[in-house]
Amino acid sequence: MTEPGGVAECPACNDELRAWVTTPNPSGGADIPIERCDRCRLAAIGGTDPIEIGLELDRYILDEPDRADDSAAGRTRYLIPNRAGLAATIGGGAWSQLGTDGSRLGLTPMAARLLLERRGEVVCSLRWPIAAGNHRAIWQTLLNGFTLRLNFARSALAGTIHPMGRREVAAFAVDAIASALAALLLVPLGSLLELVAVLVRRGGLIAIETEPKTAIDPD
Ligand SMILES: [Zn+2]
Repeated sequence: MTEPGGVAECPACNDELRAWVTTPNPSGGADIPIERCDRCRLAAIGGTDPIEIGLELDRYILDEPDRADDSAAGRTRYLIPNRAGLAATIGGGAWSQLGTDGSRLGLTPMAARLLLERRGEVVCSLRWPIAAGNHRAIWQTLLNGFTLRLNFARSALAGTIHPMGRREVAAFAVDAIASALAALLLVPLGSLLELVAVLVRRGGLIAIETEPKTAIDPD
């Protein structure tokens, strides 16, 4: 991500990466810096630590053992959280999909296309599907505006929050109450926003299908 001269470069479009926001470190310690590219809108999480681009793309490959039709032969399908989507625009640094599951990149359609082309894949189709994950992501993003901890509801439901001491227990209680009350309004609002976002190609997920470059262009 950072060249010897110290210039942070976007791994997708080679434009300059700029410091953007920080996000709490789930392991404790200092907050994690996030940079972004103003051209392709990619987000890079974790500062100057090297990012394995191939691994970042591979994490979004759909595993479809039942999909054996001939038209799909040689094709790879991806389902990627969309950093250019409406939920990401509303949430900014508090977008619920930013850096979750250990991912180091926030990808947009343009950034994903460029990175896939670099490893020899040509995008055959790009869609903005409606899926349960869209709605969960935008609800959680909206809820982040009401809670002390980012992604509180998702973490609490997953059992990964273990408050220690009176201050943390009090913060947990505040977040739990805020989440419960806000969810009554935000669940239907989030669903409506996501449906509109999909219609205007700003959905929270991008579904991409690629072919090896050689299958289309032998040169
Ligand atoms: Zn870029």
